Amino acid sequence: MAKYVFVTGGVASSLGKGIVAASLAKLLQARGLRVTIQKFDPYLNVDPGTLNPYEHGECYVTDDGAETDLDLGHYERFLGAHTSKANNVTTGKIYHTVITKEREGAYLGKTVQIVPHITDEIKRRMLLLGKTGRFDIIITEVGGTVGDMESQPFVEAIRQLQWELPEEDLLSIHLTLVPYLRAAKELKTKPTQHSVQLLQQAGVHPDIIVCRTEKDLGPDLKKKIAQFCNVKPGHVIQSIDASSIYQVPVNLDKEGLDEMVVEHLGLKGLPDPDLTALQEFLERIRHPKSQVDIALVGKYVELQDAYKSIQESFVHAGAANECKVVVHCVHSEFLNDDNAKELLGEMDGILVAPGFGERGLEGKIVAVRYARENGIPFFGICLGMHMAVVEFARDVLGLKDAHTTEVRPGTSSPVIDLMEDQKTTTVKGGTMRLGAYRCRLAEGSLARRIYGQELISERHRHRYEFNDAYRRAFEEAGMKISGCNPDTGLVEIVEIPSHPFFIAVQFHPEYKSTPENPQPIFVEFIKAAMERRGNA
Ligand code: GLN
Repeated sequence: MAKYVFVTGGVASSLGKGIVAASLAKLLQARGLRVTIQKFDPYLNVDPGTLNPYEHGECYVTDDGAETDLDLGHYERFLGAHTSKANNVTTGKIYHTVITKEREGAYLGKTVQIVPHITDEIKRRMLLLGKTGRFDIIITEVGGTVGDMESQPFVEAIRQLQWELPEEDLLSIHLTLVPYLRAAKELKTKPTQHSVQLLQQAGVHPDIIVCRTEKDLGPDLKKKIAQFCNVKPGHVIQSIDASSIYQVPVNLDKEGLDEMVVEHLGLKGLPDPDLTALQEFLERIRHPKSQVDIALVGKYVELQDAYKSIQESFVHAGAANECKVVVHCVHSEFLNDDNAKELLGEMDGILVAPGFGERGLEGKIVAVRYARENGIPFFGICLGMHMAVVEFARDVLGLKDAHTTEVRPGTSSPVIDLMEDQKTTTVKGGTMRLGAYRCRLAEGSLARRIYGQELISERHRHRYEFNDAYRRAFEEAGMKISGCNPDTGLVEIVEIPSHPFFIAVQFHPEYKSTPENPQPIFVEFIKAAMERRGNA
């Protein structure tokens, strides 16, 4: 039987609930337990695939093709293990299931209600992964903050499970904020007290309270919170602001979080967590031997979370190279031939980001050209690959009108075009080419050298692809196809062998990078940037 840990949040959003959940999972895994994490999101979209990054940050894609919350990216990066469709549930998914069943007649004669029908479906999904026999512990993070109207059914489901599961099989953690009032020079516990009150009014009793804080709470404040919030003394701990998210497991271990959890869950005789690999990784982040400046060219750069996995991949690749990677976000909408030198001239590498739609596209093309003509290491991802192809077609092949049919359906040179099976698709949600596909790497190519093997698998999220009709023209002019899907022939990677480092990929390599297994293209891209910096 698996045991269940629930993580709710209060006071404010963006307190790092996902990081706390992932850190706890990491600590339990480091004690030898089999752990997975799932996220329950209160919004009505069936998945975040239809949300734009301004609304919800990056959309993270799993191997099995689920479009999920970006917290699943943290789960995978912390655990070094894959998640799946079952690890991200939304209110939309719950209602979709219940209403479909209602139409099928599954509840014939009954009134279908939030309690028990919606809450039963929530509980079924909360327990689902625990029934596979693959995990000892399931950590469930509930999105939003307690008191929100839309998260009430999730909190109610936890309340019911508190009575339905044996006491030592369920643990509830509540994350709150203890703000520091600069003028008063004081940390304030009242918002935490109110948040716990709200949770308790809903019938859920927290076993552990984790307080996000920018200053050390000290034993007295922790004792005060425990007293007012009705939890065991010692069961209030802090999560203090950290310079790296990967430091949080170490900090929470020092606070005794995992110790409390295993004790409450009756798991005896477990070893202390082995955090050697994580500590080594942190050491490398703390003491880089060099630095590179990388331009991240995209249209969502104002938003920290929009390119989360790419940013994290740079942290991993930097650590692998003992190099500090300073990422400069360049807004593609405002990039043009006149300011390219000013914005990109000092960069050691240029990455053109994925995306959808026309806004900022010409700026991405400018970035590709600048990298190609000036021998700056270049890395294009998905839409970034499309723009690398369009730029090459326009400038080297002389196809001035070349474009992707995503934004110019009538172009006379559709070098990027809709995939055949997408032409009849009208429904938007979950209909892209999603998830893991294999790719065969050409002998002697940069890609083959980077991966060191012939067959790889990476994750996808796109509708448009390299138009095979132009393959010969590109290859003859010096842009090589170095990776293809072995089953369909779809082009996955292009590169320019005459350039010091120019690679663009149809897939999203950033989804699979972890501290312990940094993604190889990112690692080599940083290496190329370091070489350029060294030679400059
Ligand atoms: N908009 C492009 C497509 O749908 C690229 C998608 C992406 O960059 N993830 O094919």
